[in-house]
Amino acid sequence: MSEVKRITHHINGAYWKESAARSGDVYNPATGKVTARVDFASPELIDHGVKVAKKAQEQWAQASLAKRVQVLFAFREILNARKEEVAKLITAEHGKVLSDALGEVTRGLEVVEFACGIPHLLKGGYSEGASTNIDVYSIRQPLGVCAIISPFNFPAMVPMWFFPIAIAAGNAVIIKPSEKDPSTINLIAEFWKEAGLPDGVFNVIHGDKVAVDSLLAHPDVASISFVGSTPIARYIYENGTKNGKRVQALGGAKNHMLVLPDADLDLAADAAVNAGFGSAGERCMAISALVVVEPVADELIKKISERMTNLKTGDGSAGSDMGPLVTAVHRDKVASYIDAGLSAGAKLVVDGRNPKVNGAAEGFWLGPTLFDQVTPEMSIYKDEIFGPVLSVIRVSTYDQGLELINKHQYGNGTAIFTNDGGAARRFQNEVQVGMIGINVPIPVPTAYYSFGGWKNSLFGDTHAHGSEGVHFFTRGKVVTSRWLDPSHGGINLGFPQNG
Ligand code: NAD
Repeated sequence: MSEVKRITHHINGAYWKESAARSGDVYNPATGKVTARVDFASPELIDHGVKVAKKAQEQWAQASLAKRVQVLFAFREILNARKEEVAKLITAEHGKVLSDALGEVTRGLEVVEFACGIPHLLKGGYSEGASTNIDVYSIRQPLGVCAIISPFNFPAMVPMWFFPIAIAAGNAVIIKPSEKDPSTINLIAEFWKEAGLPDGVFNVIHGDKVAVDSLLAHPDVASISFVGSTPIARYIYENGTKNGKRVQALGGAKNHMLVLPDADLDLAADAAVNAGFGSAGERCMAISALVVVEPVADELIKKISERMTNLKTGDGSAGSDMGPLVTAVHRDKVASYIDAGLSAGAKLVVDGRNPKVNGAAEGFWLGPTLFDQVTPEMSIYKDEIFGPVLSVIRVSTYDQGLELINKHQYGNGTAIFTNDGGAARRFQNEVQVGMIGINVPIPVPTAYYSFGGWKNSLFGDTHAHGSEGVHFFTRGKVVTSRWLDPSHGGINLGFPQNG
């Protein structure tokens, strides 16, 4: 019998020694077995972590830009050298296949590389002689202690959307990762220590709602960066801002792919399969609604079904295309949507229930599933399913497809497949969604642009990473200065005017 290990917090550069009153099971989704128990923090432990981070931040903010960049470069080198190790941990607790896990680490690394340019990113403006003998300039300073609360589906990449920039800008961070796959971020904490980051600047505190609520209420937590489902994102935004914090809360998604009749249907079929079933559909940028402008739906569905028969579902190590779902509860919830689709009258083209898998029978499996004849009032269209279920909605015109997308409550990502540049250009202008792909099914912006959706997919003003990330993790000051001007102006109670 394999041993169940304990996963605990990493605070002030060391693992926490004291035992926890509460903890949660961590599974290997491919075997269905509990592999670890993760400690859940109490409000007192959160308070301790914030105090540690606050003290460390005061020193770190004084470190020169050159020193901070040296630490970031060292961290980048360690993470790059040991990325396979990180990917294996992700696969063991999340279930996604190894190549996919490696992909998320690589995308996270891009943000670290972006943050290595912090000296340039923090440069302010300078106006010499804004008024007679007066210069005006702007600087940006860190916020203090920044909390990051992350979801299960990207245990490495999503925290890395935030912490490289937060740390580079001179903040300290407390990360509360998902309790479903908590090991990855602990290894990353070890990398930071090895890179020379002072203790207390990067802290990992595990837990559930109790830990999150304590972070939301703590007076010394300056900001919250949250990623997760929409109801929790809304809750975080409302409560965090109520407590005076800066909040960016990224929520759920239902991403549409609009296929026009002139599209390359082989390219579109490849894209629909890759974006629909990669990571078992557990991606906030997964395509789950395929909107096809007639008369090409029959042909496209045939091409997609053919490709689906070749997909291998199994554990990450066995050359599989798609892994299990994260928990049995989540697998059952996704499967219940297949029943709901059938009851509502959708046509089940490929049934993923009872899949043939390369892995243990007890794993949390669900095969790729395809529905046709889906209509907008069905729950399989309205809700975020977050599993390997792709729904085809047939429309007669581009305008009908666009209207469908714009009416949906979510606006994270979308894609159009067409060979008509004019149609694509019109789409990018008219669609009410934050991230657009043109013949690209998963348009995750590169690190120097910002990631974020519209509508119920994001609460707050600022998207993740890129210049918006730098803006989020700093606050501006403007200095108006006069030096040694011998011509004293005397008393004047009027409002200062430039002259
Ligand atoms: P989740 O909302 O269940 O959990 C996210 C985080 O919130 C976790 O750390 C969890 O411990 C915490 N949490 C859970 N319940 C809470 C509660 N009642 N009060 C306070 N905190 C709570 O999300 P998940 O299942 O881990 O992740 C999947 C969701 O995340 C999907 O909806 C997906 O679309 C979304 N997601 C969005 C993006 C994006 O960029 N918009 C990216 C990745 C994932």
